[in-house]
Amino acid sequence: MTTDANPQPPSTQAPASTGTSSRRSFDSRAIHPPEAATDYAGSVAMPIFLTSTFQRSVQLAERWDYSRVANPTRSALESCLADLEGGIDAVATSSGMGAISLVAMAVCEAGSHVVLSDNVYGGTWDLFSGLLDRWGVEVGLVDLTDPDALAAAMRPTTAMVYGETPSNPLQKVIDLAAVAQIAHRHDAVLAIDSTFASPVLQRPIEFGADIVVQSTTKYLGGHSDVIGGAAIAADPEMAVRLRETARVLGSIESPFDAWQVLRGVKTLTVRMRQICESAQRIAEYLEQHPRVRRVYYPGLPSHPGHDVAARQMSGFGGIVSVELDTDADEAARVCTRFELFTLAVSLGGVESLVEHPHFMTHCTTGPDANIPASLLRLSIGLESADELIDDLALALG
Ligand SMILES: *Cc1c(COP(=O)(O)O)cnc(C)c1O
Repeated sequence: MTTDANPQPPSTQAPASTGTSSRRSFDSRAIHPPEAATDYAGSVAMPIFLTSTFQRSVQLAERWDYSRVANPTRSALESCLADLEGGIDAVATSSGMGAISLVAMAVCEAGSHVVLSDNVYGGTWDLFSGLLDRWGVEVGLVDLTDPDALAAAMRPTTAMVYGETPSNPLQKVIDLAAVAQIAHRHDAVLAIDSTFASPVLQRPIEFGADIVVQSTTKYLGGHSDVIGGAAIAADPEMAVRLRETARVLGSIESPFDAWQVLRGVKTLTVRMRQICESAQRIAEYLEQHPRVRRVYYPGLPSHPGHDVAARQMSGFGGIVSVELDTDADEAARVCTRFELFTLAVSLGGVESLVEHPHFMTHCTTGPDANIPASLLRLSIGLESADELIDDLALALG
């Protein structure tokens, strides 16, 4: 990293994930991230640095040099996310997919083998199965809820184990400590997409993950008004690998978008607390509904990953997937009958959304993904839980 070589005034020191702030609670650190806005003219909110380039000297590489490499607003978000996830550094990218492709490019090379969780976000599936194979990366699908299956799938060329927990949309819960142990025994990197949980509910680095991926479009942004992502590194060597790769790939978050995510982070804890409470009530309501075949929510004792989730998460999240006792076409019709839930892809915002993975987010993944045709995915927002339940009753008929 050439950009941090030159000593700078306090406001531009490299992000620190240790020090006074890390001794405080998650809630306080979300409000007061490591890079203080007040270093800039006493500002309480982080300023948005809308500049492409910075005045500098000829020979000394400065921290602020060119905004693709580093920008104060983006760096404030990056050090904030690294701190909240318990990592050493983060790269804020232009989307969640930008973060996942960054991780793939940083970790894999021609001849690498990747173990991919058998239930992942549709775009992740497309990247690994439709694009990386053209670059000579071999991808094997494994149900990562079964550590023995992972152990059997590892090869000498396995560069990375990539999983999502809870997964999209089937809410599979991966035992992070068990999977990390197997990956590391084989010198492979463990990368975990923790978007469904967000750092307030789950921090995979604490269980041994080397990289955490977030689509900040979702809970971190929290208001359905920005697209962004982040890749967070657990150790300095991985931090350099991600940062150097990001510098040349260029898929970085703009200063304005970084600022929006930074603002969203400040209310993450309170939003999540309410969302988890409403989601639990809604999952319990749906579980006893006569038109429902199965509810996928880690907070239900009937969920196969409930015990693992209770161990590694401090709440069960806001996504409730529900398999209706019907076919794909009738499930699609149910989607159009909601009045309070909005029919839209994406999740993690203040407004409740409903979508139909079979026809919408997961239409490209095919039968290997085992996504029931009558599955609906609900993202629970901050509306009244009573009214959300009334709306479900209306739509289900
Ligand atoms: C949305 C999502 C992504 C992709 O993020 P974008 O910001 O849309 O690129 C990746 N993983 C999960 C789990 C997601 O929900």
